[in-house]
Amino acid sequence: MPIIYKCRHCTKEIGRLDQHVVESTMLGFDQLTTKEKEDMIKYNANGDMEIISICESCEDTLGHHPHYHELDFFIQ
Ligand SMILES: [Zn+2]
Repeated sequence: MPIIYKCRHCTKEIGRLDQHVVESTMLGFDQLTTKEKEDMIKYNANGDMEIISICESCEDTLGHHPHYHELDFFIQ
C-alpha cells in the first residue's frame, strides 16, 4: 500500500512511501487528533493512502512558519 504525500495547495506529489507495513506511530499520527487525521489522511479508491501536506514551494509562498504559529497560540 503506497502512501503518497501530496501538497494541499498545488496538489503536487511531494513523495511516497512504498512500505507494506506502516505503523501509525512511525508517521507521527498518534500525536494528531482524530479531526486532524481526517483532514490529513485520505484513501483513494484504489487503496492508496494520501497524506495531505504542504510542499516546500507553497510553504515558502505562504510564509508558513510552524514555530510562529506556536507562538501565536501562546500569546492568545
Ligand atoms: Zn504546493
